[in-house]
Amino acid sequence: MDKEGNDDAKGGSRFGMGRVRQAIVRIENARRIVQFLCFLLFNAAIFGLGPWPLFLPVLQSLGAPSKTVGDAFGVLQLMLYDGVFPWLPLASIFLAAMASGRILCGWACPFGFVQDLLKYVKRKQAEFSLRTHETMIKAKHGILLLTLFISGSLAVSMFSEVGEGYVKALGTFAPAPFEALSPANTLFAILPGVIFDIRYAIFRVMEAPESILTGILSLSPLFWLRFAIMVIVLALGVYVQRSWCRYLCPEGALLALLNRFSFLGLKRDPLKCTRAECRACVEVCPMKVRILDLPWEKFTDPECIYCLKCVSACSTKALRPKFL
Ligand code: SF4
Ligand code: SF4
Repeated sequence: MDKEGNDDAKGGSRFGMGRVRQAIVRIENARRIVQFLCFLLFNAAIFGLGPWPLFLPVLQSLGAPSKTVGDAFGVLQLMLYDGVFPWLPLASIFLAAMASGRILCGWACPFGFVQDLLKYVKRKQAEFSLRTHETMIKAKHGILLLTLFISGSLAVSMFSEVGEGYVKALGTFAPAPFEALSPANTLFAILPGVIFDIRYAIFRVMEAPESILTGILSLSPLFWLRFAIMVIVLALGVYVQRSWCRYLCPEGALLALLNRFSFLGLKRDPLKCTRAECRACVEVCPMKVRILDLPWEKFTDPECIYCLKCVSACSTKALRPKFL
């Protein structure tokens, strides 16, 4: 398109920009409120509620004493370790993904919520080329496969009664290999425990000033590894929106595999869509979904988390959710 055409398009896209911005803010505010309420609900054991016998495919922590619902992928690993077929977590993942794709990622996952909050740390966003992005997406499937391989082979070896050496070799990683290094587990369970211990040490510091240093030095190398992973993941999230969800989360990878078959999807009206002149939906998408290259009748892209940012960014209202 020539410069004049571009200017026209920009002029056209400026038309009604205020209304578009308002719509984005409205949906984003609604999403933040739902995410916050889910965060409270999933951690409502601190208010004396739960735990409930419910597993959801959201990245929680298995070890957080405040949790009310189980993280389906974490429970799946624990059940394999116990030699039980994980039909309950599998059913939960399957049903949630078939009914609504990755909507829990966009609206309910506690670690997804934390990543969305990172966007308020204003930093210039890093941009990857499409090719790099599509290569990096595969990393989360690699993490999923590795976790399932370790948990699955452990279950088989335990079932054949030859697994003791394997369990010993895996050590901390045996019961739930991904959980052992999960940044969500570090953030929601391990770190609060350590902070509580350090706070206790601070109270004692008047009597024994060296107690804080002793406490920090006594933290294991595994703790520092977990801590470093968590810091790197959170720092990445500041520069690349939802980088963990896009590239590394095995729970997101599981949902992405099933998202394609979800009843929920998005529809783009080709008569209203101004396509090449606009691209507002593509630019606003935190998961870099190639909306304009997907079928207009209904698309259920594996990466879409149904945040609806694209829907509210569309000044011609060409996009909308579609069920069935
Ligand atoms: S991809 Fe993982 S961390 Fe991100 S929202 Fe989904 S389950 Fe949560
Ligand atoms: S395609 Fe739309 S709903 Fe899906 S992740 Fe991107 S902006 Fe959100």
